[in-house]
Amino acid sequence: MSEDTNARARLESVRRRIEEACALAHRAPDEVQLLAVSKTFPAEDVLRLWALGQRAFGENYLQEALDKIAHCAAAAPQAGLTWHFIGPIQSNKTRPIAEHCDWVHSVDRERVARRLSEQRPAGMAPLNVCVQVNISAEASKSGCSPQEALLLAGTIAALPGLRLRGVMAIPAPTPDPADQRAQFAAVRAVFDAIRRVHPGVDTLSMGMSDDLEAAIAEGSTMVRVGTALFGARPRHSPQDGPA
Ligand SMILES: *Cc1c(COP(=O)(O)O)cnc(C)c1O
Repeated sequence: MSEDTNARARLESVRRRIEEACALAHRAPDEVQLLAVSKTFPAEDVLRLWALGQRAFGENYLQEALDKIAHCAAAAPQAGLTWHFIGPIQSNKTRPIAEHCDWVHSVDRERVARRLSEQRPAGMAPLNVCVQVNISAEASKSGCSPQEALLLAGTIAALPGLRLRGVMAIPAPTPDPADQRAQFAAVRAVFDAIRRVHPGVDTLSMGMSDDLEAAIAEGSTMVRVGTALFGARPRHSPQDGPA
């Protein structure tokens, strides 16, 4: 199979999984957006999916993201691509994120939120932001507690350079669908609590290659899919390094 045929087959397969999960959950298929997580894959893989209609891409590592954003802008100007930063953020490296991304899913503290708002260029639309919540406290260092999430959402909603969109989470991986659903339900509860105070909030970013069905069953509006679209990542990529 050519690379193009491969990419098309993978994209169609992921779209079908989303549609089937939506049907099972009695949800309309357009309630769930697909974010293609292109970390560790080259810009040509992004452009290949773009040619097949995919528009939203997610990146974890700052320098890699900036290189890819620049490459894609040069190769496909006015392409309608949106770039979502989904990795850990160092507070001294917020400026390029504010200047080059459309979304950030991984805001978990006030200092980062304030800097992103200050550094968002005046001519650009406010940066779309999700609060990253850690509902399995010991499993990961990123993300704030559910209690902190509500406070942080209030801070973000009041910042002029940001637009509060919702909540993101990366639950501890588990092969058991019932466990997956219980964790996603806990994220959903945080999302609902924030939405009661901030009715404009519309994004529940949860679900990846191995658990998107469970996430959609619990109300995900954006699944972040890497492996199922691009193939396995190199084992020794800097998975856990900060941006
Ligand atoms: C890598 C990554 C993904 C994609 O994971 P896959 O299992 O490859 O689909 C989604 N979200 C975040 C935050 C990631 O770091």
